[in-house]
Amino acid sequence: MLCHHYQNFINLDSVNHEEINKILKTSSTNQVFCNLSIIASRYKARVDILQKQSTNNTWNLFLIKLSTKYKVKYVNEASFIAMVLEKTGMKVIKTTILYISKNYRFGMHISKLFISIDCTEAVNLQKQNFFKISDKIIVDLKSRSMPHPYLKSVCKHCHIFQHCVGKNINRHIFDIPDLSSVELENFIKRGIHIIDDIPLKFKLNSLQQTIKNCVLRNETYISQNLKYELTNMHPPFFYLDFESVSTAIPLYEHIAPNTQIVTQFSLDKTDNNGNILTHYEYINKKKKDCCNHIAKMLIKHLCNKSCSSIITYSNFESIYIRKLINLFPDLHYGLNNIINRMVDLELLLKRNYYNVNFHGKSSMKKVIEVISPELKYMNLDIKNGKDATIAYAFMLYGIYNKTTKQQTIKNLLKYCAMDTLAMIKIHQFLINLVK
Ligand code: SF4
Repeated sequence: MLCHHYQNFINLDSVNHEEINKILKTSSTNQVFCNLSIIASRYKARVDILQKQSTNNTWNLFLIKLSTKYKVKYVNEASFIAMVLEKTGMKVIKTTILYISKNYRFGMHISKLFISIDCTEAVNLQKQNFFKISDKIIVDLKSRSMPHPYLKSVCKHCHIFQHCVGKNINRHIFDIPDLSSVELENFIKRGIHIIDDIPLKFKLNSLQQTIKNCVLRNETYISQNLKYELTNMHPPFFYLDFESVSTAIPLYEHIAPNTQIVTQFSLDKTDNNGNILTHYEYINKKKKDCCNHIAKMLIKHLCNKSCSSIITYSNFESIYIRKLINLFPDLHYGLNNIINRMVDLELLLKRNYYNVNFHGKSSMKKVIEVISPELKYMNLDIKNGKDATIAYAFMLYGIYNKTTKQQTIKNLLKYCAMDTLAMIKIHQFLINLVK
């Protein structure tokens, strides 16, 4: 989009790299190129924007980030791209990082979307560091023997952890939640990889201690308080789940970039045994803010004089409803009534139940995978929150045709309904435990 701000820009998105080299070589001064792939000495870099400075192959490099905050790590990315460009013989003389302006609003000219920072000096320094190790990295990559992997705190979030350094290790320290990366690194430095080896004198909070005990004894934890907490919840039960999106380019008026906006919800009402009595769902299909409509619908479906419990699986719903109270003070009675009856099922579960197969996690998907594996998110067309955000944003940006839009709405509603169904399963599972 930003390329359109420059005159005579050339989009090289679908052009192969040999062709790109030719085009760049023969281009004239001030020509702007965007979305190009550069390959040199076995390195490949994706370049957002490149502007030719002079015919002796000097260039301005632009890196675009969709965050509303500048992050130092962006310099690393720009330095890598600059290194790859220089390996092809192109000299980067200026590097600019563009990130999203918080003040941009829907409908403003695209030139107001970004804030720019000149990072030339920092990139020149880091680029030299990358040059020094770049040949060695290629040698290592070409080597027939794999470098020996070693455990680091970042392995916790690596998707191949179970097949790499986590292979065949049960009772891993990563199963203890909320350990900081400093604490994890300290353990690793001292050779502590399994929970059994965590020193007794290391202070764990009560949840961490519970998990440690469960893992060491290979036991499931059920607190004595669980029955009491469950009997304090009152039927008929309501299960409420919101879906939200946050986009760099606002979807409609008066919304700042990257603002989290609620776009849909699913609401189930069940009897004491988990039988669904009613299901209600809503999705905003229009390019305009719907929070007043959501507030009124929640009141219509949930506000009443009973003390029936409204169950969520995070505090996101109550935070959002508090925001609605600030926005619409005239609706405070009904919205406060809803908040006062809310129960966060995830917190209740964390306080009262732990299964070693949770591996330190309490997310709805992890818990369902263990206690109700027949409920499969994998069978849905939209399987996770990231897919849901992308599908919704594409729909509102007008990228989909009518048929795809209708199918997307169905898929989004199904995904959200799955979350309320999962909550019912978890709640019933806990009720059956204490029966
Ligand atoms: S688990 Fe991932 S991050 Fe850790 S060593 Fe293996 S590949 Fe690297």
